[in-house]
Amino acid sequence: MKMSGRRTMAEENIGQQGSSPGQCQVMNQSQGRGQATIGIDVGGTSIGGVLLDASGQLLSSAQIPTVPGNCQVLDGIISLVDSLMETAPGLSLQAVGVGIPGRVDRRTGLVTDAVNVGLVHMELGAAIAGRLALPVAVENDVNLAALGAICSQNYQTGIAAYINFGTGLAAGIIEDGTIMHGATGAIGEIGHIPLDPHRIPCKCGQEGCLETVASGSAVARLWPVEEGYPLPSLLAAAKEGDSQAREALSVLVGGISMAIELVCLTFDPQFVVLGGGMTRVGQPLLDLVTARLDEMAAHSHFISSLALPSRLRLVGADQPVGAIGAAILGQRVAEEAGRL
Ligand SMILES: [Zn+2]
Repeated sequence: MKMSGRRTMAEENIGQQGSSPGQCQVMNQSQGRGQATIGIDVGGTSIGGVLLDASGQLLSSAQIPTVPGNCQVLDGIISLVDSLMETAPGLSLQAVGVGIPGRVDRRTGLVTDAVNVGLVHMELGAAIAGRLALPVAVENDVNLAALGAICSQNYQTGIAAYINFGTGLAAGIIEDGTIMHGATGAIGEIGHIPLDPHRIPCKCGQEGCLETVASGSAVARLWPVEEGYPLPSLLAAAKEGDSQAREALSVLVGGISMAIELVCLTFDPQFVVLGGGMTRVGQPLLDLVTARLDEMAAHSHFISSLALPSRLRLVGADQPVGAIGAAILGQRVAEEAGRL
């Protein structure tokens, strides 16, 4: 699930920045020398952070384990910011962006229902800003992963999409460099569109949600393993010819393909970046999905005309797109505050 509320002032004003309103990085190499922003991605198992200079270049990254709870997460974020700044003596930190799973009121930085990280109700933005005496922006983690993943591609303007195949399934949509939120922040909640005929009950109360066949939790149900990650084990068993594995993999690949088709028909993006824990297996999964999309195109000239496989991109295995997106948001907030 991903939910967030209103637009930040920085995003509302992004269209007023010079001649390239949609560009992902807000500064060029000659500007803001010596200034930096930090992006933090709070996840269920770890908190990752990156330090960007004013030109958007990645200077360093770090990661610590997540200790659940309001104070623990806050202390973790502050200690990560301190360690990142120690790697770049002489640089001056101008703002911090933070991504977190849960409902976020981006105007106030209030986080609710971030149960994976033990935050139930906390004014996280204000708490971090109070400790660092800097502008801080908080946003839903999938939206920031979308911003980071899409800005890491060859992208300037227009619509691009990111689909996060994590424990759950959700998409983030970027238009002209800005995160699309919709009226209530529910845009991109494709995991809870009830399309699958198997009608598996979903935690949201519906049955047959796309998330029940196209997510990490779906793989864990379809192919349970005692230790390690189930998807590499499922791929290996299917390759060896195990009929149950082939059946489970077919359900999964069908669900992923449906998610891609749905996003492309709804938003018609220039490209779709696939990310999240499931995509760490990389090319073998992309090959299977591409084959399924080709199969769908062979039966429909309409689907064929959409050229879905040519739009697919994969997040690199160790690319911290969530933290990078958070740092880009930090850059925008710093510029809005006149600090960059
Ligand atoms: Zn659901």
